[in-house]
Amino acid sequence: TKTLRLILGDQLNSCHSWFQQVNPDVTYVMIESHQEQEYVTHHIQKIVGFVLAMRSFGQTLTNRGHQLIYMRLDDPQNRSSLTDTINSLIEAGGFERFEYLLPDEYRLDLQLINFCQSLKIATGFRDTEHFYTQRDEMALFFEGKSQYLMESFYRYMRKKHGVLMLNDTKPIAGQWNFDKDNRNKWKGQPAIPELPDLRKPVAQLITMINEQGIKTIGAIDPEDFNWPTNRAEGLELLEYFCNYLLPHFGTYQDAMHTDQPFLFHSRLSFALNLKILSPKEVVDRVIDHWADRKEDIDLAQVEGFVRQIIGWREYIRGMYWLQMPDYERKNFFKNDNPLPQFYWSGETKMNCMKHAISQSLDLGYAHHIQRLMVTGNFALLSGVSPEKIDAWYLGIYTDAIQWVQLPNTRGMSQFADGGLLATKPYVSSGSYINKMSNYCQGCAYNVKTKVEKDSCPFNSMYWNFLYQHRDKLANNRRMSMMYRQLDKMDGQVLTQMVLRAQDIIENPDAY
Ligand code: FAD
Ligand code: SF4
Repeated sequence: TKTLRLILGDQLNSCHSWFQQVNPDVTYVMIESHQEQEYVTHHIQKIVGFVLAMRSFGQTLTNRGHQLIYMRLDDPQNRSSLTDTINSLIEAGGFERFEYLLPDEYRLDLQLINFCQSLKIATGFRDTEHFYTQRDEMALFFEGKSQYLMESFYRYMRKKHGVLMLNDTKPIAGQWNFDKDNRNKWKGQPAIPELPDLRKPVAQLITMINEQGIKTIGAIDPEDFNWPTNRAEGLELLEYFCNYLLPHFGTYQDAMHTDQPFLFHSRLSFALNLKILSPKEVVDRVIDHWADRKEDIDLAQVEGFVRQIIGWREYIRGMYWLQMPDYERKNFFKNDNPLPQFYWSGETKMNCMKHAISQSLDLGYAHHIQRLMVTGNFALLSGVSPEKIDAWYLGIYTDAIQWVQLPNTRGMSQFADGGLLATKPYVSSGSYINKMSNYCQGCAYNVKTKVEKDSCPFNSMYWNFLYQHRDKLANNRRMSMMYRQLDKMDGQVLTQMVLRAQDIIENPDAY
């Protein structure tokens, strides 16, 4: 049967069983679709990265002898909707069957289901063979439970896949979690190694993207595009991580620093999310590397990393499929403020925000704590509409795809799901940021005070948040200590803080 098989831009898994044999009846199709460049305003590095990775993957398929239709963004036949373009290819090529790999986004899933129903030829789909879990596995695991605790899912995953286990039930070293060892500030030592050189020139591609009228955000250096866009580069980044970053990964996982955007973070999310690398090969490689160097790398570092991949990443995906499409509409606090303008420019006197945002605009990257405890924290404390925050996170990061962005933003960072994902809102005053970073040292604001003109905005906003949402949060056991502190607070100080917070919330760009 003459078959057309669709490969989406984030389905670049060259180890997939589809590609194990060349079949003369099968033609693959890859489309640099306008629809995918425009459903949100993306960072220019994200678009360049996706396009380069798709082209390189297409080349790999052709080199292996597969038939491929590759449609570039500037191809005149490339119509605006993905499915319209596929439809004309099916008609022009006389295909008798259409197949696709299960998309990870609800939006595309629905589009392809509807498309298949509209076709007169036979259709079929396959799994991407990428994740450890199936789409519905987490739903089955938590069936009948009212809370979805990541830690219990993580332990189930460790046991099921025999990762860092002593036997079927006991974790290695008798401990599941070393999180409390992973809370250090980075003070200039140990030194951060130079990034591996994956640079390639991208000037022509940038010109083409601009000529196609694609709106983008953020900066790019046409000579210095340093994200991995093929398998060899992905594997090189993984080796680099094992050799130079893993020994300190967990220890400085939560640290932030003005001069070091990446610290000991792996930067593997882009390659993982495009499926250039599989989570299993990443986890296996990290554990093998550690097994050979146990005297140099302690278990806490390795467990901390493994938890991100088989714990958080799979859990987030499970949550997405468990909650969609309702998740997109969750707004527990009924927040509806606009996003401050400085999220698009980095122009604010708050040093932490300035660094976290400028870095995101310059690099298409911020690490987890910057996303959660700086930009996410500020957005929640100032009651920004979750839709506006989603659009920002979905656009600005090279690794942002809705299945992973949405639960992280709405759930973990904004508590918009009322606590399905996080047991309490991740909010803090300036003291947490000060504890984990050097941001406050160069800031126009004083992190130690609450109500003065130059007091850290996070301080008054934090207490205002607790005060305003007492009805929704006071019964949460994990918040009780904070409410006890609020109750002990001098009434006049609290009033001053609420007033100051209201002013910041109304005029964020003045701060
Ligand atoms: P490392 O710190 O080196 O961690 C290793 C890997 O673990 C990452 O590559 C990633 O694949 C995985 N991981 C760690 N934490 C998470 C998590 N919470 N969810 C899923 N995977 C995780 N991650 C994305 O991949 N895409 C997003 O769009 C995204 N949006 C986020 C939005 C917010 C508000 C927050 C708080 C987090 C978001 N994350 C997202 C999770 C996390 O911040 C990034 O995965 C991480 O910063 C990527 O950098 P890294 O590869 O250097 O990660
Ligand atoms: Fe951020 Fe406040 Fe510290 Fe300034 S003082 S860097 S605003 S936490």
